[in-house]
Amino acid sequence: MVDVLPEQTERWQAVEKLAREHFYRAGFKEIRTPLIEVTELFSRSIGEATDVVGKEMYTFSDRGDRSCTLRPEGTASVVRAVLEHGLLNQGSQRLWYAGPMFRYERPQAGRQRQFHQMGVECFGLDSPRSDVEVIAIAWDFLQALGLDSLVLELNSLGSTEDRKNYRALLVEWLESRYEHLDPDSKQRLKTNPLRILDSKNSHTQSLLQDAPTLQKSLCDESSDRFKAVQNFLEALQIPYKINPKLVRGLDYYSHTAFEITSEHLGAQATVCGGGRYDGLVEQLGGPSVSGIGWAIGMERLIMLLEGFKTGGSSPDAYLVNKGDKAEAKALELARKLRSASLSIELDGSGSSFGKQFKRANRSGATWAVVLGDDEVNSGQVRLKKLYCSNNSSSENDLLVDYSDLDRLLALLRS
Ligand code: ATP
Ligand code: MG
Repeated sequence: MVDVLPEQTERWQAVEKLAREHFYRAGFKEIRTPLIEVTELFSRSIGEATDVVGKEMYTFSDRGDRSCTLRPEGTASVVRAVLEHGLLNQGSQRLWYAGPMFRYERPQAGRQRQFHQMGVECFGLDSPRSDVEVIAIAWDFLQALGLDSLVLELNSLGSTEDRKNYRALLVEWLESRYEHLDPDSKQRLKTNPLRILDSKNSHTQSLLQDAPTLQKSLCDESSDRFKAVQNFLEALQIPYKINPKLVRGLDYYSHTAFEITSEHLGAQATVCGGGRYDGLVEQLGGPSVSGIGWAIGMERLIMLLEGFKTGGSSPDAYLVNKGDKAEAKALELARKLRSASLSIELDGSGSSFGKQFKRANRSGATWAVVLGDDEVNSGQVRLKKLYCSNNSSSENDLLVDYSDLDRLLALLRS
């Protein structure tokens, strides 16, 4: 699990702010669910045979002997909350969430045990057009961050029936090549054969090149739906690549599945993953209402943005202060200026003026506001412009009456 340090939080905040704007413009409302849920919620929705439920969950008994789990993803909790509070009675829902998720995985670049996702979930939107609207929100947000060389990978997992037919075909094909499979895939053949398509083992990957594809098992209706999604993407000029092996890790997906990947992320290339999950709401005890959503991995997104400059936040003014009276006055002045919306860094060291000025310069502030006992005795503060070639010019070094707050604010804002 990782700490996000102050030098990085600025970038996180900038990304979160932009995301909130995009969600707002698309008519999405935020939902916040607890970090802990009863374990059954995840085993019933994500699926017992998935890696997430099988090996990656942080599960424990609470003091009431209930099996609890730190959420490994957001969708199941959102569905639970939506059902628990009857939100579906109010018509279709467009929701977004953000926050930490927990999976006991092998930590490596782009993979942590506590990581953060930002995601959307829509309920009651059925048409292929809504799939594309939802994909476009992720795509446009990532474009707005200035990320190029992203690839939208697309597949259709068809209906439950399509997948059942395909599963039978695939299992038969794989069983006749059983001895060539890696141990992990041999295991999955029994539990979750579709996931073998997603195997990271290069030998298995090359074997799979000739495997039957899911697309050939799609019924006409599923096939038409998939084609419609592609047509809408083309109309919006969102480039995509069909990836017949894209199956996604969790059990609940159907029809549209997609990932947005970047070649700059190494082995953990997927920055956004999502798709349609039409059966999930019903599976969790709700009405038959469709769902579609995606989640972006924040850490991977931040890695992609590492080369980009953030605005960088410097205080408006740095308050240099020394002497008993001056230090007391400085505390008061900082509070006044802050309540007028200025950001003020108050030097609390009591060290020499020289040392404080060095720090003031490093802070990136435009102004140093200087209070010594001399200034306090004459009811004034000194304003010195930092980063300035001509420090003795009267505009850059001024005395202002302490009581003339308006003038002080006007100068500091200039
Ligand atoms: P992967 O194949 O990389 O394990 P996944 O299919 O398990 O991804 P999802 O459950 O779809 O991932 O989660 C959506 C996104 O969340 C991923 O595309 C990725 O950006 C991010 N993510 C998932 N697991 C982790 C993790 N352990 N650490 C960091 N980010 C993660
Ligand atoms: Mg995973």
